[in-house]
Amino acid sequence: MSLEQLAKDMQNCTRCGLSEGRNKLVFGVGNPKAKLMLIGEGPGKDEDEQGVPFVGRAGQLLDRILAAIDLTREDVYIANIVKCRPPNNRVPNRVEAKACLPYLYRQIELIQPQIIVLLGNTALQNLIGPDARITKMRGQWLESQSGIKIIATYHPAAVLRDPNRRRPVWEDFQMVQEEYHKLKGNS
Ligand code: SF4
Repeated sequence: MSLEQLAKDMQNCTRCGLSEGRNKLVFGVGNPKAKLMLIGEGPGKDEDEQGVPFVGRAGQLLDRILAAIDLTREDVYIANIVKCRPPNNRVPNRVEAKACLPYLYRQIELIQPQIIVLLGNTALQNLIGPDARITKMRGQWLESQSGIKIIATYHPAAVLRDPNRRRPVWEDFQMVQEEYHKLKGNS
């Protein structure tokens, strides 16, 4: 199965209650063979309208962060824990995340990234463990069973709310850049 086929198959998904309020399902965007994948929380208002992840203010900040490490959206793949907008941009609950995670796992299988950046607590807790905390675990490399290097950092929306998070995010992405260069050196 290709990413396009997966996206097509899930267009009318009603596995969880978030389907009721969605305008557009937000599957993901970027290079289907990306070595670097970024995973956020879920669509907001702009994303729900356009069907594309990270297009609002947080998305613009993410673009600037990527540019600072010499990358663009075309180099990476961007997806979320849930593909439909939670009402009032609330955090997706466990039931919703659990219903949607198989799609994300399938995306990861198809893309086969070598580095994954988890953006914020929701991505961290759903992919690493419910007790994980972004404040404690950001900026540390983890490794999946299949050998994918994983690092967590603050979500761009959290940086917009608290400018003190700019520096740690910058430091974390410098670690990502270093690792990414190592991959390029090996390819
Ligand atoms: S959030 Fe995921 S599981 Fe829930 S309806 Fe949307 S696509 Fe389906």
